[in-house]
Amino acid sequence: MNKCLYIDEKICDSAENHNKKNKKNLTVALTGNPNSGKTTLFNVLTGSRQHVGNYPGVTVEKKEGLCKYNGMEIKIVDLPGTYSLTDFSPEERVARDFIINGNADIIVDVIDTSNLERNLYLAIQIIETGRPVILSFNMMDEVESQGYKIDVSSISRALSVPVIRTVASKSQGIEELKKQISTPVYNKKVPLYSEELEKEIEKLASFITEEEIPEKYSSRWLSIKLLEHDKDIIKRLEVHEELIKVSEESRKYLKNLYGKEVEYIISEERYKFINKLLENNLNPPETDKTSLTEKIDNVLTNKFFGIPVFIISMWLMFHITFTVGSYPVGWIEKLITLTGSGMAYLLKDNLLKSLFIDGIIGGVGNVMVFLPNIIILFFAIALLEDTGYMARIAFITDRIMYKIGIHGKAFIPLIVGFGCTVPAVMATRTLDGKKNRLVTIFILPFISCSAKLPVYSLFISAFFSANMAGTIMFSIYFAGVIISVIMAKIFSKYLFPEETSFFIMELPPYRIPTLKNLFIHTWDRAKHYIQKAGTFILMFSVIIWFITTFPTTGKGNMLEGSYAGQTGKLLEPLLRPIGLDWKSGVAIVSGFAAKEVVVSTLGTIYNLKDTDENSISLKESIKKDSNFSPLKALSLLLFVLLYMPCMSAISVIYRETGIKYTLFIICYTTAIAWIISFFIYQGGKLIGIE
Ligand code: GDP
Ligand code: MG
Repeated sequence: MNKCLYIDEKICDSAENHNKKNKKNLTVALTGNPNSGKTTLFNVLTGSRQHVGNYPGVTVEKKEGLCKYNGMEIKIVDLPGTYSLTDFSPEERVARDFIINGNADIIVDVIDTSNLERNLYLAIQIIETGRPVILSFNMMDEVESQGYKIDVSSISRALSVPVIRTVASKSQGIEELKKQISTPVYNKKVPLYSEELEKEIEKLASFITEEEIPEKYSSRWLSIKLLEHDKDIIKRLEVHEELIKVSEESRKYLKNLYGKEVEYIISEERYKFINKLLENNLNPPETDKTSLTEKIDNVLTNKFFGIPVFIISMWLMFHITFTVGSYPVGWIEKLITLTGSGMAYLLKDNLLKSLFIDGIIGGVGNVMVFLPNIIILFFAIALLEDTGYMARIAFITDRIMYKIGIHGKAFIPLIVGFGCTVPAVMATRTLDGKKNRLVTIFILPFISCSAKLPVYSLFISAFFSANMAGTIMFSIYFAGVIISVIMAKIFSKYLFPEETSFFIMELPPYRIPTLKNLFIHTWDRAKHYIQKAGTFILMFSVIIWFITTFPTTGKGNMLEGSYAGQTGKLLEPLLRPIGLDWKSGVAIVSGFAAKEVVVSTLGTIYNLKDTDENSISLKESIKKDSNFSPLKALSLLLFVLLYMPCMSAISVIYRETGIKYTLFIICYTTAIAWIISFFIYQGGKLIGIE
């Protein structure tokens, strides 16, 4: 092959090197717009099970995996989605740095072919970096079913890069892609700008080459970036004063010539080039019918129906979680009580027996009971995500989000928060601006994470009838959302009144979810829950058993005299106004370790309390306790919903925001929890509910 064809020597040499390395191992980076199918492709290539969702912003950090092909080991890196290599939020920077620093030998740009114009905008910029690029025209199934005809090979020729058609969700085109990855790739310079602009680029590029600027980037790419006035690149090249001066002159010259800023000219010309390319190579279907997605969206994102439909679907989700879940929950409950009474019968009365039955079965067993609820809820959430409805929810709530002063993009961390606050806090990294991040982190504790679900399930099934259960559960979750909305409004008004920014969410088409994705998503949460029960909760159950059993005074009410009992008693003045006793106090305090521990602690306490009745479930024990009533249960549930986040969440919050904000979050959430429980309990009593 002729070397002069390549963008420039340096890049060419590095391409050669990579291709020599080919025989052994390669690093391939997957890039592309958000929601173009990168993670799906990553999973197919590496056989892993990363979370895929039909909305933008799922992958925040890069993930790595291995793919074997023809005796080669190919390292695949899944990068966060990005629309452009110019403007970037922190996660877009991850992608950009990875691409331009040459960390990958080959870049596979995953393109949502049903959205070719916008996806090619990024592709062109990646090609411009001069790195070896392969375009994977993904979602070909959708394009074809819509009746579009694309001349892929002609586009490939025009851009001088290999193009492979793929349908990642059906593993189609994967062999071809792997083959292409293992074949040396070079890309050539594509002069796509107008003559004047190209002239200036050339001028700068030759200046860069002559100056022997010791950078690993393509000179053409650097020139374009300098003309775009890219702050990051200017900073990297700062020392080359002469070059910066020349590029400023070029910018001035072009601005005068075109009468607008150079960054606009460049972006306009990229689109012009793409449109011309598509005009010649993309044939729209003959009959122009409204797509199914549009038809569904006319209803689901409708100004009037949008919100009611959303609320009904959420209600339905919780109703199903509860009603369908109550059967398997009942079976596991039986199994646990049977195991308990079996062991009680078999073992001799001693401390070890109590540790097993009261501590471990009472603790871990009672947490495991609610596994079916977790599975059903997260299956439902996966379904909403994968069909594309979740993205619509973001869309219909965006107006509200804007009004309350946070970025619509904050929707994604909030959704992640229904699973676990820890990754949700991490996901706020996708938000730009300190205000957006902080306000979102401040309200995240009010979003019910999956660990709170067992607490709700336990008390709701103990105190409310089966047909009310779903509604109560929904109301608790909803109350959390409402309170976070109110707090967000307050924070953004008084704490950080200055910035507000817009967010345009693009809506993916509706898709039939693949079983595999649903399974991955649900299994992830179930596995996490089981693992936590078997490790962390187990450890805490033993600790709780210890502090509720010792010191053994041998007389009177031993439970109340235990360390835990004494602590709980100390807290009673604070608990009484919200209708709770020392047992709930101990559970609430230990819930700081993890929210499931609220349930395991109660399990241990009630097992110890009702020692003679090993055959009744925790639910029954609580129902029997005269210190509880539906109103008191509600007060406890609201308290658990709102009070301080658990230990692990606190530690990421601390890492992401520092000590000042962390202490603030601990105090203000707990204060709000107490105030709300107080009003509910006292209010309820006033109107005669007990
Ligand atoms: P990412 O944001 O680029 O990582 O995209 P994901 O891999 O999370 O995929 C986004 C959505 O597109 C998911 O619902 C996938 O199931 C779906 N998807 C991925 N590839 C294809 C494809 O080739 N055809 C179709 N119809 N859907 C796909
Ligand atoms: Mg992804």
